[in-house]
Amino acid sequence: MSVMDQAFELDLDGFPPEVRQFRQAVREFAREEIAPRAVELDQEAHDHFAWDLVNKGHELGLTRAILPPEYGGLGVGVVGVCLAMEELAAACPGVALIFGATMLGQAPVLLSGDPRLQSRFLPLFSGEHAVLACNAVCEEDAGLDLVIPENIRHARNLTTMRRDGDEYVLNGHKRVITNAAVASFASVFVNMDGRRPEAGLTCVMVPLDSAGVTRGPVADKMGYRACLGSELFFEDVRVPVENIVGGEGEGLDILVAQGNMARSSVAAVSTGVARHALEAAVEYCGQRVQGGVALREHQMTARKLAEMTSKVDASRLLYLSAADKVDNQLPAPEYEPAVAKFFADRIAIEVAGEAVSLLGSRGFIREFGLEKVLRDSYGARIYEGTPEALALAIAGCLYRANDEDGFDDDDV
Ligand SMILES: Cc1cc2nc3c(=O)[nH]c(=O)nc-3n(C[C@H](O)[C@H](O)[C@H](O)COP(=O)(O)OP(=O)(O)OC[C@H]3O[C@@H](n4cnc5c(N)ncnc54)[C@H](O)[C@@H]3O)c2cc1C
Repeated sequence: MSVMDQAFELDLDGFPPEVRQFRQAVREFAREEIAPRAVELDQEAHDHFAWDLVNKGHELGLTRAILPPEYGGLGVGVVGVCLAMEELAAACPGVALIFGATMLGQAPVLLSGDPRLQSRFLPLFSGEHAVLACNAVCEEDAGLDLVIPENIRHARNLTTMRRDGDEYVLNGHKRVITNAAVASFASVFVNMDGRRPEAGLTCVMVPLDSAGVTRGPVADKMGYRACLGSELFFEDVRVPVENIVGGEGEGLDILVAQGNMARSSVAAVSTGVARHALEAAVEYCGQRVQGGVALREHQMTARKLAEMTSKVDASRLLYLSAADKVDNQLPAPEYEPAVAKFFADRIAIEVAGEAVSLLGSRGFIREFGLEKVLRDSYGARIYEGTPEALALAIAGCLYRANDEDGFDDDDV
């Protein structure tokens, strides 16, 4: 066991046995099945998809980890999901996002608290074979306009939905939707026809085998190549009115709630990416002799390793603390997950960059896998809130606490 593992084990002492067991099983899966294939998966064609890995992850419960036990879930909470995401991302964040995007696809139904919707959709993820989901928000003309609440009134040309008897009819186009090419269901954010987006945004569950749904081309991404991000077209797609999540016009609240639930797990993904880079740097600097001593004995290198490990540890503590609050507060808090993601996304890029430089030419050569880590490190700063979106959310919390009843640590 490495020093890093030992330190990490200590962190887990206070967690329930099912969470520790799940983390251990996912760690073994990540190290034994994903890590050895990560470089190969990265270099495959941009639309290649490793269903075999997904099915193995499904056996571990990764496609239903966030669901409550009554719907086949593991009951490990957001903390358990975050610990699993760090392990997966330390091997390959693209694989982590396949499962993360499925959980996000499930999130609106989960958050709705609507037993009718939950009993229709959530048990579908506990079958013999893996079923994936996706969460379709981003559009051609509306990216951050659907993530930053203050932007939403400027959103234009959104996918629309109108009621026709017992059905809703969808028309429009979504882009960069993780899992859209392979998912069975999507939670889709649409605007009720004729309404302003701030009043009309609505979430609806769409089976992707519905007539009128077309899965568009898969994006050729710079990183996260193991998961597929693609377009989704809706042309007069009809779904029963029962598929609405919440009510018409409640989409913005659901978007904010799902962001607050998901951001700590994205912070965990970034922590895993940074940990991968740190582990590679620690190993290399311990073995590589230049100037007559191992690199780690040069003071400047030691300082870099110390900075990197402090960042990874701090990032982990932030996501764990945020996830714990998400598990124990209703509604989930906005501040802690945003802070955890804001920090983790930045340090993943910094630590990956530092590791590439510490490995010299080996950092730059594909077969060593670290240039992949650097490319991957930029992914999480785009989805589930860019640094600019997170900064606005964080500052909003600071001033809200101040305005309402004076600055109060408990509120923030
Ligand atoms: C790996 C990956 C996976 C993804 N998966 C999904 C998915 O499953 N589902 C989905 O719906 N989308 C997904 N996306 C898309 C992602 O959500 C969007 O790319 C993101 O919301 C940004 O939208 P955009 O690309 O249109 O950027 P734009 O909206 O054009 O933003 C460009 C820049 O402007 C900044 N900006 C915008 N408004 C403001 C403001 N008010 N103040 C300051 N700065 C601002 C942004 O922060 C950003 O830096 C994924 C993206 C990636 C990279």
